[in-house]
Amino acid sequence: MIDEFNKLLYSNKIITQSIAPSWVNQGINTHILRLDLIHPVISGNKFFKLKYYLDEAEKRDKRTIITFGGAYSNHLLATACACNLMGFKCVGIVRGEKPAIFSSTIKAALEYGMELYFLNRSAYKEKKIPFLIQDHHYIIPEGGYGIPGARGASEILDCVTGIKEYTHIICASGTGTMTAGLTNAINSHQQVISVSVLKENYSLQTEIKSLLTEKGMKNDLKIIHDYHFGGYAKYNPELLDSMKELWTELNLPTDFVYTAKAMYGIKQLIQNDYFKVGDNLLFIHSGGLQGNHSLPVNTLPF
Ligand SMILES: *Cc1c(COP(=O)(O)O)cnc(C)c1O
Repeated sequence: MIDEFNKLLYSNKIITQSIAPSWVNQGINTHILRLDLIHPVISGNKFFKLKYYLDEAEKRDKRTIITFGGAYSNHLLATACACNLMGFKCVGIVRGEKPAIFSSTIKAALEYGMELYFLNRSAYKEKKIPFLIQDHHYIIPEGGYGIPGARGASEILDCVTGIKEYTHIICASGTGTMTAGLTNAINSHQQVISVSVLKENYSLQTEIKSLLTEKGMKNDLKIIHDYHFGGYAKYNPELLDSMKELWTELNLPTDFVYTAKAMYGIKQLIQNDYFKVGDNLLFIHSGGLQGNHSLPVNTLPF
């Protein structure tokens, strides 16, 4: 199962690109790991976060996967697609009443055969499993948060040649699962910088900590809370302008929920002289571009 999944994952070569945006100071090297190019739907970190959950489900002989997410959730759609590829039945529990018109994410999840249940916000909060679901099921927590998710995410850095050369690994965080995986995987001379996209989500540190291995506990992790732009999936013209700039300068597409905010954060750190000459930064492009469909048409040039 893991082998089969890895074959899907690594069949598209994962590339690391050198980038030199105009705002990077001289003497600082920046690379980007293009996980957004892995697969058109299960892009980015989701592939990595899902694999050990699916493996565990298979080992326990559970052929139905249940998971949770909002109407634009990258996790929900990635799970639908991964289950479709790996032959699992899949149920999605969606936050909020059933809308008159489905989001593009929900439509795509349906196309992958995901069975959907819409729960109002209070029922969703309790993560109630509708009684209609009788099958022996396996639950993947919302956002893939958990030890199997972090274990998969720790394999992200295996895709980078010369990983030891980097001084800083930079990513966006929602649940913090990817951040935990990366922190477990780095070496003692490296630092993970994680830009939280949720507003004032100060419990993130504890949530990440509970996914760290003994080695990970000793590693250097910096969490930044300053670039959420008002909260999850919130944005303003400044964020959109920074995305357009990355596109025109570098031909680099970002998503407004995660990667654009992390990039913006790095730009600020660079401008505040956080890094020193000779530092070697690796930015994880964790995908999520499908989420841009929730923006009004023509907001972005890509
Ligand atoms: C889900 C997601 C994240 C956040 O990952 P966590 O492990 O929940 O912190 C970051 N970037 C993108 C593009 C995502 O889709």
